[in-house]
Amino acid sequence: MTESITKTNLLGLSPAKLEAFFAELGEKRFRATQVLKWIHQLGAESFDEMTNISKALREKLNAVAEIRPPEVVSQDISKDGTRKWVIRVEGGSCVETVLIPEGTRRTLCISSQVGCSLNCSFCSTGKQGFNRNLTAAEVIGQVYIAIKSFGPMDPNGERQVTNVVLMGMGEPLMNFDNVVDSTQLMMDDNAYGLSKRRVTLSTAGVVPAIDRLREISDVSLAISLHAPNNELRDVLVPINRRYPIDQLIDACNRYLEGLSDKRVITIEYTMMAGVNDQPHQARELVKVLRRLPCKLNLIPFNPFPNSGYERPSDAAIQAFKQIMVTSNIITTVRRTRGDEIDAACGQLVGQVQDRTRRSQKIIPVVQEEPGLSTDRRA
Ligand code: SAH
Repeated sequence: MTESITKTNLLGLSPAKLEAFFAELGEKRFRATQVLKWIHQLGAESFDEMTNISKALREKLNAVAEIRPPEVVSQDISKDGTRKWVIRVEGGSCVETVLIPEGTRRTLCISSQVGCSLNCSFCSTGKQGFNRNLTAAEVIGQVYIAIKSFGPMDPNGERQVTNVVLMGMGEPLMNFDNVVDSTQLMMDDNAYGLSKRRVTLSTAGVVPAIDRLREISDVSLAISLHAPNNELRDVLVPINRRYPIDQLIDACNRYLEGLSDKRVITIEYTMMAGVNDQPHQARELVKVLRRLPCKLNLIPFNPFPNSGYERPSDAAIQAFKQIMVTSNIITTVRRTRGDEIDAACGQLVGQVQDRTRRSQKIIPVVQEEPGLSTDRRA
């Protein structure tokens, strides 16, 4: 028992940290490359499998290190091919991971925190409260688990995961170091080898962290905007009170300027009936988005119990989209996927042992038939 506590879990070490780890053991750098490939391209679970590493070094590794992915509690597959995993992390809480196949793309949506501290008004994760940041091993472990669910890993075979989005539970930029280490593994040629255009970090807009990210990463960025003005965004995305829209747009422009290639920011806009789906709001949004090279992704709200919001009609969504398109803003509407396994956007709840007590403050709306218990907090 005590042994496993002190062992270093190599699964979560970024390429640079793995090199430092081997340097400390007095080993050559190329060992890091070998081990990266074994873990992330071949799916090794033990050092004994690593046949190009001497027995002596394998024994040394067995004594001080381990490869320990988080535990899979369940895997569901929806009729449309969407897969969802419930993953138990250390301490007993659970997070969720979803794989969404679409044509030749297979996008993995991963979580970065147990719960979330930002408390956006329409997000079910936020309603669960916050427990802790995931470790880097728990973040990258979701990619490792998803790929391995298709059978033995084969670096020369078809890619089981073509894109990764940090759009699951949590705010990635509030778990900065572990998320950055994990995205480096996703984009490293000796690990998952995904292009920087295929790894997208989605944030509610932690402006100073966007500036920090610019210094050390070139991952693609998505921003959860959801409102065309501060008055409304303050309500939907409370972190806006600290970093209002203008500051956020400026930070996005700085981020794009720092990239060596020409890319745009993805703007996410979850549409809620009567809240942010009106034509005048679309016109107001056009003015905001004119200031940023971007494309817009409209996400019809996915309902969950007691959310207090509703999905707009298809007509309202199309009318909103039309205003954006005629203003030359590239706009897509996100198709709802995997909703029968509760895997759609905003339906990921996991099992958060809330430390903030926020989840206890939610007063359940009475919906059941008379005589039935209405308290779902238990
Ligand atoms: N914290 C990060 C990433 C997690 S949320 C962020 O805010 O970007 C990923 C996306 O799902 C966000 O754009 C979020 O607004 C959206 N989302 C959350 N709840 C939703 C719901 N119930 N219906 C539709 N989209 C939702």
